[in-house]
Parts: sequence; C-alpha cells; structure tokens
Amino acid sequence: MSPQHPIAIVGGGPAGALAAALLADSGRHVLLFDEKLAWEKPCGGGLTHKALRQYPFLADAGRESNPVEHCELISPSGQRVRFHMQYPVAIFSRLALNGLLLERARRGGVDVRHERVTRIERASGDWQLVTPEHEYKASYLMLAAGARNPFRSQFLPPIPPGDLMVTAGYFIPGHRSLMQIQFLKGITGYIWVFPRLDHASAGIAAKMGEISAAELRRILEKWLEKNGFHFDGARFYSHILPSFRAQTFETLEVCGDGWAMIGDSAGLVDPITGEGLYYALRSAELCAGALLAGEPDRYRSLLRDEVLAELKLAARVSQRFYSGQIFGDSVLERMVSLTAQSASFRDLMSDLFAGIQGYRDLRARMYRILPSVMAEGLAGTLRWPWADSRFAADPFAES
Ligand SMILES: Cc1cc2nc3c(=O)[nH]c(=O)nc-3n(C[C@H](O)[C@H](O)[C@H](O)COP(=O)(O)OP(=O)(O)OC[C@H]3O[C@@H](n4cnc5c(N)ncnc54)[C@H](O)[C@@H]3O)c2cc1C
Repeated sequence: MSPQHPIAIVGGGPAGALAAALLADSGRHVLLFDEKLAWEKPCGGGLTHKALRQYPFLADAGRESNPVEHCELISPSGQRVRFHMQYPVAIFSRLALNGLLLERARRGGVDVRHERVTRIERASGDWQLVTPEHEYKASYLMLAAGARNPFRSQFLPPIPPGDLMVTAGYFIPGHRSLMQIQFLKGITGYIWVFPRLDHASAGIAAKMGEISAAELRRILEKWLEKNGFHFDGARFYSHILPSFRAQTFETLEVCGDGWAMIGDSAGLVDPITGEGLYYALRSAELCAGALLAGEPDRYRSLLRDEVLAELKLAARVSQRFYSGQIFGDSVLERMVSLTAQSASFRDLMSDLFAGIQGYRDLRARMYRILPSVMAEGLAGTLRWPWADSRFAADPFAES
C-alpha cells in the first residue's frame, strides 16, 4: 500500500460512510465516492436495538427516526397478534440516515465526492478510479457499492439468482406507529409496513425466481388495499437484496490484495429477516479496524468469526422457517399463535426483533422457556421439531 495515495471507498451508503468516518478519525486520507450522496434508497429503514447499542450516535439521532414499540405479526392464514417490543426499532428514512452518516464522515475530514465511479483498474500496486469528471489514484480500495455493486465481477463471480431476493414497495405518506409483518403462503419472504416519521415504507420481498416481480407487486397492492392503505400517488420502489445460501457464506471472499468488500456489496444480509443495516455498519467497522491495525487481511477472519457465523446459521434455518412444520402446523402459523398465547414467547420475539437474541443460542433459549410456554397453557402434546425423527437435522446446530 503506497501511503502517499488515499484510501478510496466506492459507495457512501451506511457501510461506506461509516468506514470512511472511522478511517478519517484516525488520520487517514479517505476519498469517498457516491453517485447520489444521501438518497431515499429502497429500504425499510429499521435499525434494531443491537445496532443502536453498537452505534450510540444513531440512538442519539432520535429526532431523525420513528421509535416503534408495537409490532403486528400476521400469519399466512390471517391470524394476527400484536406485541410490545421492549426495545423499540428506530425506523429511519434512508435519506435521513445516509445524510447523517455522510455528514459525520465529512466533519471527520473525509473527502466526499459526488461522482459515479465508472472504472477501476490496478496500476503498479495502486488503484486507479475513473469518474466522468476525474481520475484518482488510491492505495487501498473498499467496495461499498451495495447489492448492485457494478465492480463485483472484477473480483468475484456474479451473485447467482438463488442468492438474491426481489423487493417491491411504496413510500406511503402519513404518520403511523404500528410496525406490521405479514407472512405469505409459498413465498420465502414477507410484506412489511415500517412507519417512519412522516411516511411508511411498505414492501414485499421474495426469493428471486420464486414469483415474478409483477406478481409480487400485485400481491402487495392487494394487501395494502385490504388493510386500508391509500397508495395512489405514493412513490413505488424496487430493488434487489442479497439473501445468501449457507454454502455461499461458507466460500465467501470479502477481501484480497489491496481490496475489501463491505455491507451489501459483500452480501452481508440476514437471509431470514432481510436486516442488512447492522451488518453494513459492523463490516465497515471490522474492515476499517483491520486496515488501521496494518493487517487488512484480518478483516476476513474477524468477519467470519462474528458476522458470517451468524448469517450462515440464519441461511441454514431460513428454508425451515419459511416452509417448515412444527407441532403439526407451519412454523409461521405456530410462531404467530405462540406469540399470542405465551408471554415467555413474546419476550423471545421482542429480543429477536431487538437483534439481541442471536440464532446461535436460540435453541438453548427455546429449551429454557419451554416449561413456561407449557405453563402458559400450551404444548401439552407439543414436541420440539428436533426431537422428532422427521426433523433429524437440528436447525440451530453449529455444524
Ligand atoms: C426493500 C428493502 C428493505 C430493506 N429493509 C431493511 C430494514 O428495514 N433494516 C435493515 O437493517 N436492512 C434493510 N434492508 C437492507 C439494507 O437496505 C442494506 O443492507 C443496506 O442499505 C446496505 O448498506 P450498504 O452501505 O452496504 O449499501 P447501500 O445502502 O446500497 O449503499 C451503496 C451506495 O453505493 C452507491 N454507489 C453504487 N455504485 C456506485 C458507483 N459506481 N459510484 C459511486 N457510488 C456508487 C449508491 O449510490 C449507494 O448510495 C432492506 C433492503 C431492501 C432492498
């Protein structure tokens, strides 16, 4: 790495903007490129308690987000349950969130460029980045260009359709305070309504190839109409979302000689929930930390041990979560009914939504609360699926 050239970061979303700020805070010269700067990127905008705890400056930006305490879950058959989330989800418009992170980077001394990078080349150990306006040299390259990362093919094979989700949604004006999640029959994904300060992001996601984009939009529109949302004139959005399979996480490369990928560029999204903001921020932090320590390749092992282990487990459980059976009913139906019937299960759901209940110790927690769930009037004849030979593979096992 030649120290006379800056570190270049392509993409000023949450991942790129945080990495840039952390590097600049430690005195590094950083060039951050974004073709749009702060923009309303298609997103729910929900930040969990885990993210707010890790990044207190986002919790302090309370006026920019809607702290939502109540969630309604709706099963595929239409059972509904509302529950209180002990730790509110802070729902940001992405215009506000990206603006806040970019401003923080700028104040820390990052050279923020409102330019689209169109070409990247390696030249005698350094990087050359080309935009319509200028050419730049850089000593290290961080790719934070999101799920549509146009430079991926220079470093890694393309993301296969089976590792992606398609999303569609509307930004619907008005203030609401209830977060809603509707699970659907035959779709690996869900409909969400995430209320922000002055509008809601209402959308739908499904595995790519499972259903056409037009059909997905039609299902969402029908649901919105049925549930009393007026979306005439509301702005439509659609985007892709990484949703990697376990084997993809196992072989994932996130850095190489003089480069690293962070956030959606690297595919760091929870394949069950679609949560990507926390992982964008955390991967930025791990990558910047490794670079500052003079050991850029350590990013690989830091990410593997902390982030990829969790995401890989989520990927393994995902299929069973969306289409498996438990206690003689679908997991989704059962989850909604248990949330309605058991306070202990509601606490578990609350912690899952806060991001403080990980997948790795979920099974142990379920065993622990089983007596309470039973005492709360359930499960006399219920058996956990991993006690049943039809579910011989324990969904939460590590290996
Ligand atoms: C519909 C939808 C709903 C979601 N809801 C949630 C949610 O509620 N909670 C959650 O945690 N996650 C959610 N996610 C995931 C979340 O949006 C992403 O994980 C997150 O935005 C990733 O951040 P990032 O910085 O890696 O990438 P991005 O936010 O995509 O940022 C990439 C940036 O790179 C810039 N860029 C790209 N190419 C170039 C180029 N050539 N030159 C210059 N700039 C470039 C873009 O302008 C963009 O600003 C959702 C995703 C979708 C699609």
